[in-house]
Amino acid sequence: MTLTVLLVEDDRELRITLRDALAVEGYKVLAAASLADARALTANATREGGIDLVLLDLGLPDGDGESLLNALRRESSVPVIVISARHTDVPKIRLLDAGADDFLVKPFGVGELLARMRVALRHRGRVLRAAITYFEHDGLVVDLGARRVRVAGIDVHLTPTEFKLLACLVRSAGRVVTHRQLLLDVWGAEFTEHTHYLRLYMGQLRAKLEADPADPRWLITEAGVGYRLVEPLA
Ligand code: CA
Repeated sequence: MTLTVLLVEDDRELRITLRDALAVEGYKVLAAASLADARALTANATREGGIDLVLLDLGLPDGDGESLLNALRRESSVPVIVISARHTDVPKIRLLDAGADDFLVKPFGVGELLARMRVALRHRGRVLRAAITYFEHDGLVVDLGARRVRVAGIDVHLTPTEFKLLACLVRSAGRVVTHRQLLLDVWGAEFTEHTHYLRLYMGQLRAKLEADPADPRWLITEAGVGYRLVEPLA
């Protein structure tokens, strides 16, 4: 099955580079240089089987990509990956909380983009089927159903809060989860500003799981945004 990608990017050179790279990978690419183009293509594609993933630049000649994200989220759960030159963290967090699946800051490699796209597409498929309850990567095994965590074949004991935090990351493995989302899921709505809890518990998790907690293999920091458990390897 051919997957259709809507690519919204006003930088002509980057648009062509990405369009060609994605076409080589077998994606059908609808390329838009503005919000107006993107809206027209979206309306057309809806009649022709839809769009499977959106790559969305933020700074566009006729407005901000964020408005398209909000419009898409009102009517669909299509995966959206933001590609942006902006380095400030606040918009990233706001976009993720608004329903973007991931973000890439320019410049990025095509290999990294393809990997993020695979994760976003797989997660979207899983959301519709069943939740992720099992994670395995290079010696780390987390089985949420059995409440079991092993590193290199040895059971690791986690406190209930540590386990809950790890479980949130397993369910989104490969994707960044914002501080706010983690605090909301683990501690509840009253605690979404308590980022020091996260730092503390993430430190404890790393101390128990990582060979070198200062240079983690699995529990990756997304500076100013949140945390990402690496993509699982079967
Ligand atoms: Ca732009």
